[in-house]
Amino acid sequence: MARGETIGAAKLRQHVRQCLRCQAEMSRERRIQRELHSLKNEIPIPDGLNDQILESIETIDRRPIIVRRQRSKVAGFCALGVALVLGLGSRPVRRLTARAS
Ligand SMILES: [Zn+2]
Repeated sequence: MARGETIGAAKLRQHVRQCLRCQAEMSRERRIQRELHSLKNEIPIPDGLNDQILESIETIDRRPIIVRRQRSKVAGFCALGVALVLGLGSRPVRRLTARAS
């Protein structure tokens, strides 16, 4: 795995610790994974096939895909946050300067 991805993941975790939207998204993802794991135990699968499928799933590194997906979401949320801050912050400033002149 590329070094940049590991650094990106650390940054992502740091962001998620402070971001409620991302925390909600992460917990949703974790819940889905839990549900999938419980389904795995409920559905009868012929011997051998079970191991074969689980083996193939566990050998796939899904992290880059998740990180990429989360990154685009994070970028979207943060752009929205910046837009809100700028939008809310610029209005009173303009009013103040208009009053001052
Ligand atoms: Zn976020």
